[in-house]
Amino acid sequence: MAEVRSLTVPSKINLILKITGKRPDHYHQLQTLFLPLAVPADRVELHWSGPGIRVCSSRPGLPEDLDNLGGRAAQLYAAAAGVAPEWMFRIEKNIPVAAGLGGGSADAAAVLRLLNEHYRILPAAALTALALQLGADVPFFLTPRPAWAGGIGEELTWLPAELPAVPLLLINPCFPVSSAWAYRHFEPERIGKLPGFHADLLLEAWRAADWEAFGKLLHNDLGLALYEKFPLLEMLRRRLFQLGACGVQISGSGPTMFAVCRDAGSREVLVEALQQEFSDLRCFTAEPYRHF
Ligand code: ATP
Repeated sequence: MAEVRSLTVPSKINLILKITGKRPDHYHQLQTLFLPLAVPADRVELHWSGPGIRVCSSRPGLPEDLDNLGGRAAQLYAAAAGVAPEWMFRIEKNIPVAAGLGGGSADAAAVLRLLNEHYRILPAAALTALALQLGADVPFFLTPRPAWAGGIGEELTWLPAELPAVPLLLINPCFPVSSAWAYRHFEPERIGKLPGFHADLLLEAWRAADWEAFGKLLHNDLGLALYEKFPLLEMLRRRLFQLGACGVQISGSGPTMFAVCRDAGSREVLVEALQQEFSDLRCFTAEPYRHF
């Protein structure tokens, strides 16, 4: 039987996202705290097929072949590793698209990992360099563990593995937001002027599972523009606090929001209330990803 390899890749949220600068090549420099989540997650399968690179997915309308970020990852890998591609990738797409959850980046990293686990040609540093060409989040997804990222996303510092699971709820309003739009609407003159974040306090609260304190320390510099443009997000934020959330924030370039709850019970109450009050929302009981 023909060999098939597969990998399940997590989504991510940004517990903190702070823009620290803008480079002459227009990339934003960041300080961000990534948290990988086991739900929602994509599954990527690699099949050996005829010559070339094919990519298809379970989600109608998602770009295919070389227009898919996974296809571009395969193309870069083939060139860097000097192998002739004969691959077909099937993506089981569960991560909402253009949602601030890193779905495309996750699939691209999965493709790089699947190929390199098979061919074993590129050293880790070369794989990371390829990942960064595909997107600032992609290096994180090569080793998806809770991590601080600096630079444009490539300077990774992993957090201790034994941190408690955060009682999280993801709320995805079913409309897309382009990352380019969100970054374009961050005014460069705000760099350094918005309130700072407290990395040490956040870690202390996390270690102590003090979700009240933890919830107050979430931060996203892109939030201002997103709340302004999409009033539904502000409405949701207020409602989530009224329903007992300890903290609410937008992930990445949005529009997915996440709420830190007091415990699993109060998370259930939140889900039920949201589902009754809003029709176009998808809620995910987000579990930490611990399979790395
Ligand atoms: P990020 O959080 O990494 O900034 P995002 O989660 O907001 O990104 P994605 O889901 O990665 O956004 O999608 C961004 C765009 O990339 C979409 O418009 C989509 O058409 C395109 N795309 C290409 N390949 C993929 C893929 N495998 N999965 C999702 N989107 C893809």
